Parts: sequence; structure tokens; C-alpha cells
Amino acid sequence: MDEFELVARYFDHPQAERNQVTLGIGDDGAVLAHMPGTESVIVTDTLVCGTHFHKEHSAASIGHRALAVNLSDIAAMGASAEWATLNLTLPSFDESWIEQFAASLLALARRYDVALVGGDTTRGPLSVTMTVGGRVNTGAALRRNGAQPGDSIYVSGLLGGAAAALERDDVHSEDALLDALWYPQPRLALGVALVGLAHSAIDISDGLLSDLGHVLHASANLGADIDAARIPLYPQAERDLGHRRALELALGGGDDYELCFTVPTARRGSVSVLEEELALPLTCIGEVTPSGACHVRHNGRILTELVPGYRHTWSG
Ligand SMILES: [Mg+2]
Repeated sequence: MDEFELVARYFDHPQAERNQVTLGIGDDGAVLAHMPGTESVIVTDTLVCGTHFHKEHSAASIGHRALAVNLSDIAAMGASAEWATLNLTLPSFDESWIEQFAASLLALARRYDVALVGGDTTRGPLSVTMTVGGRVNTGAALRRNGAQPGDSIYVSGLLGGAAAALERDDVHSEDALLDALWYPQPRLALGVALVGLAHSAIDISDGLLSDLGHVLHASANLGADIDAARIPLYPQAERDLGHRRALELALGGGDDYELCFTVPTARRGSVSVLEEELALPLTCIGEVTPSGACHVRHNGRILTELVPGYRHTWSG
């Protein structure tokens, strides 16, 4: 048995039993059943050492993150996740690293009933690529381009935690900011519940203003009015970095993996019910406007403005 067969052994654990997986890991390919009345949603993401994470970051956090960032995209589409593939490039055979990486990735897969159906292992600079498949009822997928003027704009959870953890440059203590950075929680239950409720949705991987900008741009170049006072911040980020910096990171920091979605105003009551059911903060931060500009206001004053093209500048 060579070392890459040994790697495969760490992933050879009981997989989520899924009806649609006719043949899972172990053959030349996986076989997935067609499910009438549904459509497949496919997402993929690559994490490269030195770009998306660094050598000192734990194998467990990298394993979790590799799957979580893909599940976050599945959530943003309103789909439920079904299967995943993993392509792992390793510089050397470090058995304890591989064991921790695999255990963390598989724990997240089990939590969301995702079957690992295949993958590949090669030698080279450390990088992790995952592809995840999910499913929605035909025509039901959430999209970026459905926002309408007057929609209420919501975000899930708290924002800016991952960016605050990086800026604070303290990777040794354990707290909510580091959890946000290394163990982002994909909002799959929220995504599925938003089908038929939200006009549009996106996950916040590049920062709230950037990703909301994608929604507005795709939705016929609409604008937005955002109230800075309503942006949900991490108390720890405000304490460690100050309110202003915590707000800046919540607006532009990235790596939040929360969902941003727009809902017709008449359905806001349903969002409140959902917030209770999921025990997850769902905060209305503003509304979609017909203009092509996105304004963030603070005490009635315009704090920042995004114009079409979405290069944002700070004022005041
Ligand atoms: Mg995304």
C-alpha cells in the first residue's frame, strides 16, 4: 500500500446513505440517479496554501473550511447538499495532518448528510479543491438576479468576524472571531427555507457590499439604502478593534459565509418566524432602491457609496 492509498484510507468511513448515490467512492467514477422534478446545483472552490490559508493553520480548520465554503454556495442557491468530491494536493505525507483534515471534513459532511463520492490525491504545493452537488425542485433555485425595488435586504448571523480575527493577528486564543474564521457554518437550513420567500440570495464570501453589489448589478442595476446602525457586528470585534473598524470589516471584510437575501416587504413577518425557527439572527439592514447606487447611511449621513462597478470609497 503506498502513501496515497493510505490517504484514501482516512476517507474510507461510512458515508451518508443517499438514495441518489447509486455508486459512491471506490470505482473509476460515481453514479448518481436522476431525480425527476428536480435540478442539480453544482458548486466548486479551491483553497490554496498561502492564498486562502497559511501553513500554521490547523489541518482540522482547513478540512472544515474546504467543505463549508462550498456548502455555503449550495445554501445561497436554496439547494440541499447531496454529494462532494475532494481533490487534495499534498507536499508530503504527514499522517497526523491528514488524519485531522479528514476527520474534520467528514464530520461536517455527516452533519449535513453529504456523501463523499470520489476524489484524487497528488503530490505538490498544498491545495484543496472540492466540488459539491445539491438539488432543488425544478425552477426553484435562488438566484442573484431576482431583487426588486422595495425589497427588504437581510443578512444572517453576525458580520466581519473572520476579517476581524485576521486583522487582530491573534491566531492562538479561542473565541467567536476565530470560530468565524476557521469554522464558518454554512446556512443550509436557511437557504432551503428561503425558496419561495426570497427574491434573491447570495453568500457573503467577498464582503457584504461587494456581494450585495453582485445582486444589485444582476438585478437590472438596482441600488440599495443600507442603515449602518443595523449591521449585526461581533461584540468581540467592536471591543478589540473599535466600532468604526468593526463596521468597516462587516461591510467589506469578506469570508463571512452568511447569506444576504432580499424579501418583499409584505413577507417580513415570515422572516421573523424563520429567525425563531432556526435560532439564527436574520437582520433587515436596508432596502432595495430603483437607483443604481448603494448608499450606506449612518445617523442620516452617507457613510459610503457604491456606484455601478462597485468600487467603494469611505467618506467622513
Ligand atoms: Mg458564493
